[in-house]
Order: sequence, then C-alpha cells, then structure tokens
Amino acid sequence: MPQITAHDEVRDKRTYREVEEGRHRVYRTDFLVAPKERPELPQAFLIESTPGRLLPTHFHEVDQFQVVVSGGGTLSRHALSVPGVHFARGFTPYGPIRNGAGGIGFMTLRARRDVMDAQFITERRWRLDEVPDRKPWQFTQMPRFPRPAAGASVIPLEGMTDGRGLGVWSVTVQADAETLLPAPTGGDGQFVVMLKGNLLYQGREYRGLTVAYLAPEEAALRLRAGGEGLEALVLNFPARVPPPARALKPKQGTETWHCTLCDFVYDEAEGLPSEGIAAGTRWADVPHDWTCPDCSAAKDGFEKLAF
Ligand code: FE
Repeated sequence: MPQITAHDEVRDKRTYREVEEGRHRVYRTDFLVAPKERPELPQAFLIESTPGRLLPTHFHEVDQFQVVVSGGGTLSRHALSVPGVHFARGFTPYGPIRNGAGGIGFMTLRARRDVMDAQFITERRWRLDEVPDRKPWQFTQMPRFPRPAAGASVIPLEGMTDGRGLGVWSVTVQADAETLLPAPTGGDGQFVVMLKGNLLYQGREYRGLTVAYLAPEEAALRLRAGGEGLEALVLNFPARVPPPARALKPKQGTETWHCTLCDFVYDEAEGLPSEGIAAGTRWADVPHDWTCPDCSAAKDGFEKLAF
C-alpha cells in the first residue's frame, strides 16, 4: 500500500528553528518520518526558509531528490524556481543555495533516512575522501507539464537516468481522467509529488501538495484526477548497486577536466556556452575565478581526466 500524505494533514505540525544568529528561519513540515534508529525507512519533508538566506555547499550520505514547491533562488549557478528538480547521489556536494526575495520551499525526498543530516564541505571535506570508490553525480532540471489533448501525459525528463532505475517523469492528468504511472520496480523506491490539482484515491480526495511513497515491490500507482485535473512528478530512486562507469569518449586534441568534489565535467571541445565560454576554450583560458556551477569549488579543485 502506498503511503500518501497531503500537506493539509501535516501543515499544523510545522516547526521552525532560527539560524544565522536569528536572521533567518527554517520551517520544517514532516510528511513521512523515519526515526534516527530506522535509517532503512524513507523520509519526506518540506523545508521553507526566509528570503536572502544562504545555505553553504554541503552533502548528504544518501541519494536525494529535492523539488522546489514555492519561491526560488539559486543553487550555485543554477536558477531554482517551481517546480525545479535537483537530484544528488549520496556524498555529492551541492550549493550554496541562496534564497530569492520570496524565500524558497523544497520538498526533500529520500528513499532512506540520512542519519547525519547536512555535512558542510568546509568542515567535512575529509569525509568524502573516506568513501571508497565515491561516484558523485547530480543534476538540476526544470520539468514541463504540457497539457494533453485528452486523458493524461507521462513525460520522462531527459538526462535523468543512470542505468540503475533512476528516473523522473512529469505527469499531467486532465479532469476526471486517469493514468498508470511508471512502476517503482528495479529501483530503491518511488515518490510521487502532486504539485497541483486533486487526486482521488480509495474514496478520498487529496489536494496538492501531496506526497506518496511506494516501495520497489509495490504495483504501479493508478493516478485518478478529480474535477481539477492534476500535475505530479514521479521520482524513482536508483537501485543500491554500484553506478555504471561514466560514458566519456577519448578525444584527440582537447582535454576534459572534472570537479574532484562533485564530478562536474568541463569538456574543452564543448566549452560552456550557457556561461559565455565558447566551444573549444582551453581549460587554461577559462577565467581563474570561474567556479564549479554545481558545488562552487574553485578552479584549482578540478583535475584533468585521463582516458
Ligand atoms: Fe563541483
């Protein structure tokens, strides 16, 4: 049986703490609680924090999805807005996260509890070196919800697969229509985050924001919209097996460099046109104050990849 929790059911349990000497507040609303002594259980919670807050670059010890559900900001050099999705494998640094003028609200989803919580790179860099064969990886993407002519659409997000069951789909269901979601099989569990609209399930109506968790052995969820239709994200966690080797082809005449903290790849042949660095720009010619777009590491934190 999927565990389904609507924001309406938990919003009264919201708690907050003050950070940065009382300058900012971080509100937390638990949807799915995993006690510290049960690290094998999934957890889902909403974190909302106040405008202008800066959360330094950090990592967790488990794989994690985050979905922006209110406000916006930036994650290193990625713009964050509703309904942006960030995935990071365990032991992958990301950030800093800067809140925009409206603050930001994130659903944080983990197939297994992170016993340590956030570990900041300035204090816990050494921890990454302890992990044998660490395979850091992350992505930030903006899903779209094109309105289907009739019925429902289920669209995979490009690039969000890793050969171990990882996957993200954006789902739009018209009013009073239904669709069968991708199954959780083969991975480490699935979250369904309904952002908007209403869902009818076992005689109950759930309104967005609603979160469902399905264990890998559960049957695919049939999502039936109420009279408002619905928009949802399906987030499949990768299986707990080693990730496949990175697919990079040896190149002639150009070099490929990667961030030793988070594995962001700079390929001279491709450059980084989104940041004004033209294709063919040599690593040596990338500005010395350029930093990793995912984790903000300095340029000297990069190493040349050997093929
Ligand atoms: Fe990095």
